[in-house]
Amino acid sequence: MSPTGRGSRGPVDPGPARPRRTPVVRPPRRLAASPANPAGSAVNVLAKAPGELKEAHEVELATTARPLFDVDAYVEDFNTSIVPAYRRGVADAEWPADVGLARSIIPPGTAATRDFSRLAPQIPDFIAERCVGCMTCVNACPDTAILGIALPESVVEERIAAFAASQPEPAVAEASLRRHFAHTTKYAEVPRKQGKEPAKFGIFVDPVHCKGCAECVAVCHELGYDALVMIDKVEAEAETGEATLDRYDRDIAFFRSLPPTPPEYRNERALADLMLGEHALGYVGGAGSCAGCGEATAIRMLVAATRQIHGPDSMGIVAATGCNTVFGSTYPFNPFLVPWTNSLFENAPAVALGIRERWNQAGHEDRKVWVLGGDGAMYDIGFQSLSRMVASGADINVLVLDTQVYSNTGGQASTASFGGQITKLSFYGKELHGRPEPRKELGRILIAHGNVYVAQTTPAHINHFYRAIMEANTFPGPAVVIAYAPCMPEHGIADDAATRQAKLAVESRAFPLFTYDPRRGASIAERLSLTGNPAIREDWAKLPNGTIVDFLAFARSEGRFAQHFGPDGTPTPEILATQEERLANWRTLQELAGLR
Ligand code: SF4
Ligand code: SF4
Ligand code: SF4
Repeated sequence: MSPTGRGSRGPVDPGPARPRRTPVVRPPRRLAASPANPAGSAVNVLAKAPGELKEAHEVELATTARPLFDVDAYVEDFNTSIVPAYRRGVADAEWPADVGLARSIIPPGTAATRDFSRLAPQIPDFIAERCVGCMTCVNACPDTAILGIALPESVVEERIAAFAASQPEPAVAEASLRRHFAHTTKYAEVPRKQGKEPAKFGIFVDPVHCKGCAECVAVCHELGYDALVMIDKVEAEAETGEATLDRYDRDIAFFRSLPPTPPEYRNERALADLMLGEHALGYVGGAGSCAGCGEATAIRMLVAATRQIHGPDSMGIVAATGCNTVFGSTYPFNPFLVPWTNSLFENAPAVALGIRERWNQAGHEDRKVWVLGGDGAMYDIGFQSLSRMVASGADINVLVLDTQVYSNTGGQASTASFGGQITKLSFYGKELHGRPEPRKELGRILIAHGNVYVAQTTPAHINHFYRAIMEANTFPGPAVVIAYAPCMPEHGIADDAATRQAKLAVESRAFPLFTYDPRRGASIAERLSLTGNPAIREDWAKLPNGTIVDFLAFARSEGRFAQHFGPDGTPTPEILATQEERLANWRTLQELAGLR
């Protein structure tokens, strides 16, 4: 099985009897004859023979034990034996302790076959005639479950014909596959004008990875295309009698048999097209994040941009404990194709400093080290480690997954929480009306460190987000990208709301966009750009009908602020104070950027 699952997705049902596992065998070693072992008898390499000096055993371990862990054999074994056993729920009973787990290793991409197809009752369906090929849905999906492709029309025709002919009902298969391809100006007419063969643009949904959040449907609707709709998963579809999941299984198997989008059909200026790249899918889906999770989208976009631009071996991740490490490393499911390690909340930047040094020693200066961490890891307990790393000048990048709350531990307030925000440590009651302190502005604090790249962005602002990642990757020193990450349960928002709420957070000045790049000049005003925010010289942005979009407009739309509004919508003094505080923060940014 390939790590990405391309061309080899496992069955939805447990299937026939499991293949016999080929154990990773450690051959016995023969000790030199000694008084304790006169015959020099064979012993397990990991066992210290009676009477053998501890020091002698350690020396021998160092030279013999490592090569005995055959990584290739282990990965093969893992994918054919261990992962299916976990999927069938019998691993604990049937398998001995895992030699990889003893070393804290999970092979790459093993989450590709993790099956969520029975999780949600609905799945997105594609209406090709309405699609313009904007790729917004493909970028927005937190689970790598909706995939795009552009291929020359002749290739599509040839592939559909060959694949359909191999199916039990070729006519049904062919009709179904054709429904996945759209004729678009972007991939057909523009290339035609450039003298290239027009391409068809295809959208496919992987039923195994899709959690039914409907985020893809929501973003397509917001853009006015409505080329995706949620449909029920049924046992027999009206048109063909096929089960919905069987149809999706067959069609995604076809998608995985296709070659990648040729580079000449990717639009370099439309950064959403990065997701069409052959190395982009370095976060393969199958992670245990909540449906619609904003953190997961930010991570997969970071991985896509770095691997696609700098190569598949160009990065490693140090992940501070938090939601991202729990959903990103639930044994035996690893959604990453990049080297990844987990450290505690408080020291991920320090661990990254060590890895940076070691990689530099080994001649890997061009490899990117990315640190991932949430509010606790970056705003709070790990803040000193982040500040120290930034002050060191080391070439390390950080992605802050800013959920404004401790999501993983159940929703306690962090210093990134907004004033008045209702959390597990700042309830709305008689005495206390939500969080009594204003939000800490990590971005402004980091700017004060001087020679550091800093960005505040959201995955919903696709070009801004990718530019920030690209600039961080090329900045010769520390770079910190703070990404707004909607958290469904803790923000009190719907599963399909990540993009909508991130956009509103920016429009309402709750979370302004900015980039600070020391390469742009010597002064803060030259370095700081607020481009991407609406009405950047004004206090508040306005809708076309003149309605002001202020912080209250944002707060009214999320459950975490609900108790601040009376039955008639009257705001509490506390949320009005946050409104003023957010405006003051925006004005400070305007002032720093030379706009006031
Ligand atoms: S968001 Fe809608 S229009 Fe854009 S690529 Fe997806 S389906 Fe097509
Ligand atoms: S419904 Fe959610 S998980 Fe499924 S493809 Fe759409 S965005 Fe991805
Ligand atoms: S709790 Fe929030 S941050 Fe954590 S996985 Fe769920 S949505 Fe994502």
